[in-house]
Amino acid sequence: MSTLESGFSPSSPPRSTASEGKEIEVGKVGAANSGVNGGFGQSLIERLDPVTCAFFFDVDGTLVDIADHPDAIIVSPELRDNLSALQDRAAGALALVSGRSIEGLDRVFDPLRLPCSGIHGAQIRTAANAGITSAAPLLPDDLREQLRKIADDLDGVMAEDKGASIAMHFRHAPECGPLLELMLRALVDARSEHLAILPGRMVFEVKHAGHDKGMGVRAFMEHMPFAGRTPVFLGDDVTDQAGFAAVSALGGIAVSVGRRFPGVDAVLPEPADVRALIASLAANPIERRN
Ligand SMILES: [Mg+2]
Repeated sequence: MSTLESGFSPSSPPRSTASEGKEIEVGKVGAANSGVNGGFGQSLIERLDPVTCAFFFDVDGTLVDIADHPDAIIVSPELRDNLSALQDRAAGALALVSGRSIEGLDRVFDPLRLPCSGIHGAQIRTAANAGITSAAPLLPDDLREQLRKIADDLDGVMAEDKGASIAMHFRHAPECGPLLELMLRALVDARSEHLAILPGRMVFEVKHAGHDKGMGVRAFMEHMPFAGRTPVFLGDDVTDQAGFAAVSALGGIAVSVGRRFPGVDAVLPEPADVRALIASLAANPIERRN
């Protein structure tokens, strides 16, 4: 499999990683998808032209490093400034697409307020000054209580209640993962609601079935200033696969962080590389040439 130079210098050198039994080049544009937007021979940074692209960023593990606790992530002033500058360069077509609630995203990015899709597509705010629309109702109180009890019973498991979903984090007790999944499966199967368990990195998210990050991306793409642009989605986790699929179906560009997912066009090694990419895209074209 041949690869194309991304033209982008990540903070750490490109490295190879094994995924799905194949060695891949990280930080390069994969030839398998090079037909997307006629991207053959074009560098990644040239393909992500703010004049024609709409940018969608997952947050944890993509824009910011994963922290021990969801509240402990660090959003630097520099990242805020660069996101804001890139949003300006893209005529506003930049949004966060996260498993976090929009209220939670506003808290960690304050004072920056961006268009957001929260709780895996269950919430959307198409413009920074617009209201939040919910595509999914709150989880029933008794289910939330049952999930809190499971977290109380398992040492190191934490329930993060987002209203329309509950994230069951087990990063402090990785050995609990299989048992936690069994308990959640039994609970969900016993209930009458149409629920789903979304596995993530050291987390299972219990939510209503039928919404995902792809829905969030598609909803933005029906609104200005996103409509008519080439969608670009950057994410790091299995929960981002719906976002990758959504942009690919719309002729866009999928970029995964840390590892290669099926169908993505490029891979960046870590969130620091995403931040460096944003800084580069946010700089004006003359600065970028220097
Ligand atoms: Mg993530």
